[in-house]
Amino acid sequence: MRKRKAGFATQSIHVGQYPDPSTGAVAVPIFATSTYVQQELGKNKGYEYARVSNPTRTRLEENLAALEGGIGAKVFASGMAAVNALATLLKAGDHVVCGHDLYGGVPRLFNQVWANFGLEFTYVDTTDPANVKQALRKNTRMVYIETPTNPLMTISDIRAIADICHARRAELVVDNTFMSPYFQKPLALGADMVMHSTTKFLNGHSDGLGGVIVCTRPDQVEKLAFLQKAAGAILSPFECWLILRGVKTLAVRMEQHDVNGRIVAAFLAGHKRVKKVFYPGLAEHPQHELAKRQMTGFGALITFETGSLANAKKMLKKVRVCTLGESLGGVETLISHPATMTHAALGEKGRKKIGITDGLVRISVGIEDVEDIIADLDNALAGL
Ligand SMILES: *Cc1c(COP(=O)(O)O)cnc(C)c1O
Repeated sequence: MRKRKAGFATQSIHVGQYPDPSTGAVAVPIFATSTYVQQELGKNKGYEYARVSNPTRTRLEENLAALEGGIGAKVFASGMAAVNALATLLKAGDHVVCGHDLYGGVPRLFNQVWANFGLEFTYVDTTDPANVKQALRKNTRMVYIETPTNPLMTISDIRAIADICHARRAELVVDNTFMSPYFQKPLALGADMVMHSTTKFLNGHSDGLGGVIVCTRPDQVEKLAFLQKAAGAILSPFECWLILRGVKTLAVRMEQHDVNGRIVAAFLAGHKRVKKVFYPGLAEHPQHELAKRQMTGFGALITFETGSLANAKKMLKKVRVCTLGESLGGVETLISHPATMTHAALGEKGRKKIGITDGLVRISVGIEDVEDIIADLDNALAGL
């Protein structure tokens, strides 16, 4: 029999998650230690101090690298700490091209922190790869995109943008938080690095923060490992363990998120109080064909237009199964109002520029019984 490569679910349960060599513990232990004994000067078992490395963290990094098809991964204290680590790979005078509707924390970090240290940023609509090409400069070192975007669910062509980057020695980083490696593999499409807020689907249970960068080259891994040691924004062993536990069910959770997502999107699209639905799985989504080509599922994030701030407010007050709150990717359905929550910092003008209206509501569809989610939404929409 030919040796076959383990499938996604098998890898998520077993890569890095082998029984502990010292005790046989099947679950990866939480190595709660700050330091490690040295047998004699200069002799140890590969671990010296926990900011530099920790076995729970090493196991998680092995696991996440495998799931994205990378050669290595480094985890950080949050998604934003991971993005910050990426920025520190650059130097003053370097230029970065970014999507114009990134997760709000990313432009906040770039414009209010890193611009002060001489990094330059240009924001373009990356749904047209020609905009990326046009924005490239001699000093462009990185292109940073999200696909699908939050909250409008626009899709960018990863392969086309990767080709543009590589013709000009710029690295492409893709924030793959929304799809998870289960539905989208940016590295296989030519991206140089993948970033995740593990806080979302990878952990999946809304109980811990984390971030990861998955790499395609050893020099990237080395630089990020150096940053863990030098800057110290590492992920705690407990948080690493939560994610190791969470990823074991990533495949089944994503399948159910996707099934429920499609059903809820169809329900909303057919509801007379809903003006518009943004979901890549709907045939009327402007990039439905690209979404089908580039992703193997459509996921759980749906945004819809209620028509006004008053309508959004009214329905969000009435939901019971859906939990009003920021974040996404947990087993529970989370519902939010981009204009006053995740995208408040953009200001009215900034929101208008990218099409975020006061009536938009975003749902991260959970894995509850979908009939209960729909009944809850139906009830909340009834009064509009
Ligand atoms: C949440 C999120 C982040 C930031 O991650 P934190 O873990 O909250 O720091 C970045 N990108 C996307 C797409 C996110 O959803």
